Parts: sequence; C-alpha cells; structure tokens
Amino acid sequence: GPRQVRGAIFTWVRPEIQKDPELLAVSPAAMRDLGLALSEADTDEFKQTVVGNKLQGWDPETLSGPGYPWAQCYGGFQFGDWAGQLGDGRAISLFEATNPHTGVRYEVQLKGAGMTPYSRFADGKAVLRSSIREFVVSEALNALGIPSTRALAISLLPHSKVRRERIEPGAIVVRFAQSWLRFGNFDILRARGERDLIRRLADYIAEDVFGGWDKLPGRLANPEDPSQTPDPARNISKDAFEGPEGAEENRYMRLYREIIRRNALTVAKWQAYGFMNGVLNTDNTSIFGLSIDFGPFAFMDNFDPSYTPNHDDFLLRYSYRNQPTIIWWNLVRLGEALGELIGSGPGCDDPTFVSSGITEKTAPPLVARAEKLINQAGEEYKSVFLAEYKRLMTARLGLKSQSPSDFDTLFSPLLDTLQALELDFHLFFRRLSSLRVSAIATEGDRLAHASRFFYKEGSTATQKDEAAARKRIADWLAVWRERVVQDWGTLETWGSSDGSGGCAVSDEADEQRMAAMKKVNPNFVPRGWILDEVIRRVEKGGEREILKRVMHLALHPFEDSW
Ligand code: AMP
Ligand code: MG
Ligand code: MG
Repeated sequence: GPRQVRGAIFTWVRPEIQKDPELLAVSPAAMRDLGLALSEADTDEFKQTVVGNKLQGWDPETLSGPGYPWAQCYGGFQFGDWAGQLGDGRAISLFEATNPHTGVRYEVQLKGAGMTPYSRFADGKAVLRSSIREFVVSEALNALGIPSTRALAISLLPHSKVRRERIEPGAIVVRFAQSWLRFGNFDILRARGERDLIRRLADYIAEDVFGGWDKLPGRLANPEDPSQTPDPARNISKDAFEGPEGAEENRYMRLYREIIRRNALTVAKWQAYGFMNGVLNTDNTSIFGLSIDFGPFAFMDNFDPSYTPNHDDFLLRYSYRNQPTIIWWNLVRLGEALGELIGSGPGCDDPTFVSSGITEKTAPPLVARAEKLINQAGEEYKSVFLAEYKRLMTARLGLKSQSPSDFDTLFSPLLDTLQALELDFHLFFRRLSSLRVSAIATEGDRLAHASRFFYKEGSTATQKDEAAARKRIADWLAVWRERVVQDWGTLETWGSSDGSGGCAVSDEADEQRMAAMKKVNPNFVPRGWILDEVIRRVEKGGEREILKRVMHLALHPFEDSW
C-alpha cells in the first residue's frame, strides 16, 4: 500500500493482472525504434506484455531475469511549493530494452497498471481519455523533432471502471524513454538528507544514462565569460572549452550543465513549436531533457503568450510565456540538490551553509560556491536556449542565415501581429510556406495575400478591422520578403543600358525555399479539439480505426495531404 519509502530510489512492484485487455493501437515508429517488427504487435505475447500480464524475461522459478518491474521514488515542487514524496503512483517500469540496430537503450514502462507504494490517495489507474492524449502527443512531439518520452501501444481494459468526475473506462499506455528520471528524484533525496544516494544517483546518471563522464560537456575555460559557452547548435568541440586542471568546475558541475543544456534545447523547441506542458513541476521535468508527463498539455491555437492549458493555474505559472523561466527555476532546485557535489573541490574545504528552503533538518548544506556556479550556469542556459530558439525560428521562416536584427524586425513583430489579430500559430507558418515571393512583390499583392492567414477551418470569426489587419500583415510580409530575397536571391542585371540590376529569387530557388519550410512547419499538430473528437469516437462510438489514423498524422506531421 501507499507509504513513505526511505533510503531507496525505487521499489519492486508487480503490475495488476488485467482480464481481457484489448490492444487498441500501436505506434509503428515506436515499434521500429525499439527494434520490433510491426507484425509482432499481432502476437498474444505482445498483447499480454503491454498490459503487464506477462513479465518479459522474468523467471518465477529462479526469481531472476532482466526485468522484475519497479516503481520510482521521487518528490517534487508543485506550483513552487515542496510537496514531499510523490513517485510513480500509476507507472510501473517493466524492463530495459536495447534496440539491436541502433544500440539505444530504453526503459519500458506501463502507465495505469495499478497501485504502487507511491499511489498516495489515488487508485493507480489511468482513464482512456488521458491515455489517448498521452499516446498521441508523445509520438507527435517526437515526430516534430522535440525530445519526448515515447508511446508504444495503448490497451483498453474492458472490465475496469475508473472513478473520476464520472465513471470512465480504464486503459494502459506502454511507454518508453532513455530515462524516466526527473528532477524530483533528487528533490526527495535532498529533503531527506540522503547525501550518499544523491551521489550514487548522480554517478549512475553520468556513467549509465549519459554513457560516461567523458561524454559530458567540457569545462568552461572561463565561467565568467558566457561568450565562451560551447554552442550545441554549432557543435563546437568540447576540447575547445577544457579549462586548466583544477579549474572551478568538477565533474558534477559538468553533469549539471549537461542536464541544463538538454533542457534549454527542449524548452526552446517547445517555444518555437507552441507546445505547453501545463504542469512543469520538478517531478515533471526530465533529467534527460525530454518532454515528460502529459496532463493538461496543449499546442497553441491562436497565438497568446499568456495562455496556460491548466485550468488550476490561476497565476499563469505554467503559461507559454513562462516556460523558459520555470524550467530554469526547476534547474536551480536541481542545482541545490546537487549543491554539495558541485560546490566541493579545491579551495572549498569550508562549505558555507546557505538556507535551502526545504524545512527538513537533515537537508544537506548548500555550499555558497555552488550557488555562484548555479548562477553562472544560468548564463549558459540562456545562451543555449536563445541560440536554439533563433535557429528554429530562422528555419520556420524559410531563412538560411541569421541576422542580428531578425529578433527585433522579424520574430517579435510577427508574434505581436499573430497575438493582436488572434491568428492561428501553426496555420500561419504552414500557409507562409506556400507563399511565393514573386506573388508578394508589390504592396497591392501583399494586401491581397494577407487575408490567406485569416481563415481557420471551423471558425466563423472574421477580422474586426479587416483593412487594418491586412495592412499589418502586408507590412510584415514586406520585411520578410526582403530577408528571403537576401538569403535565396541571386544578383541579376536587367538588361537595361545603364546596367541596373538587383537581387531576385529564381522560381527554382523559391521552390527549394518552400520545400524546406514545409519540412519544418507542420501541417498537423494534435490540438485539443482533435484529441477530444478522437476520444469521443473511440469511447462512445466504439471506433478503432480513428486511432490509427490520428497516429499516422502525428507520425507524419509535415506531409501535405494524406
Ligand atoms: P502528476 O500531476 O501527473 O505529475 O502526478 C503527481 C503525482 O500523483 C505523481 O506521483 C503521480 O504518480 C500521482 N498520481 C496521479 N494520478 C494518480 C493515480 N490515478 N493513481 C496513483 N497515483 C497518481
Ligand atoms: Mg508527474
Ligand atoms: Mg501525470
């Protein structure tokens, strides 16, 4: 039953046996990434494994094998407040599986397979509704190039009745990730003063999850100088940043920086693609830098930076605009949990106690030097985030190069315009992807084309002041067109006697530009209303095919038609 689990980071636990489970759908991409043939999904072995009825490789006679299931112990800061022990209350990990072709190892896990010691006051179950949402969004994010935990299969439990606001059918999603560890795994150890376990977990992550200390970023030659930060987008060799031996950073700092950089890259992708997690508590923030834990998530519809998909988020803590700040807030909590490790080293024999904010008296001291290092790492977080965000926005706008003025003249005015005119974020980029620069050469052309961004399927809303709206978009299109011509144009003379000429984009180059844009601007994202429709049809209508279809769209987001 539910209990406090001390001195451990996980508990062995057996999933409940499920009667007559019905496999609803699999993700073909997930099958492939795990190294499984699609036909294996038809076997009884597969169907029993993905609900936890059959334990892979576990021999009950000898009590041995690669996988006896387990649930993780973690805590977390929820909405900024320490919440104590949380843990895998309705998730149970089954085994680790290595894809024989790629060598990538995943931890395979059930969601909704019954109670664990971490179930607290709840039932360990998951309803069909939330399971469909997680199944689709995990795979959609991955297909968009956004690091995410993955979903392999979804099964319906026909005999289950799960009590939520109403009685709902239960389901199990089998999911997988290179790591399911969250910041909360460290939070709980810190709160309990389990200093030895903090070190062992950190060592495990460096050596086992990230593949060795030598795989972590090199020392910053001068941590005071953020311009020396390696830029992952440009893949600068880590050797360039190895400082002198005995410099400020020890290897735990390098581990912390690896986690920082992964999360900076992921949150930059969320911002560029309008994805909101909705509950960015520290227990929902991944050590591996994955999008993790899908509750009230949403993709942006009409662009609104203060939107939060979480109805309980009255202070807008987890709104779109706040995501980068909140991930950093979570990273500071992680830095504090690692404080004793990252703060130790030459010249630091006398760690100064700094109040930790956690009340349990056993919490290890946060070293003053760690605080300084965490602040420095904040500069790296910002620069990695910004570099990645700019890279993605540049690509989404069909540009090949970055110009220092793009942020002020192109990105910000676009986002302001989308917000002011209540335009759809994803439709805008997709529609821009098929706009020829030759079609918007004159002010009149631009005004004529501006209205293509207004219309939204299923919406009858019209622009309030249509003329002003057209003008605003046309003005932005003029700036954008200039930049496209700069990047894709070639110098041409126009055969006049005075040799006058200019830069022009050939039809061929413009086709290339449009094709490139369509590869980064999705035609499909799983919006809330689409998922609601799928859920309704599976739950009420008994439809099954629709799940396959929406999964196909999620896996091929950039395709023109289907
Ligand atoms: P979440 O809001 O999804 O991050 O969940 C917070 C905590 O509540 C985690 O420890 C979950 O495992 C736990 N939890 C949420 N729903 C359930 C449930 N139905 N049964 C058991 N534990 C749950
Ligand atoms: Mg959670
Ligand atoms: Mg959750």
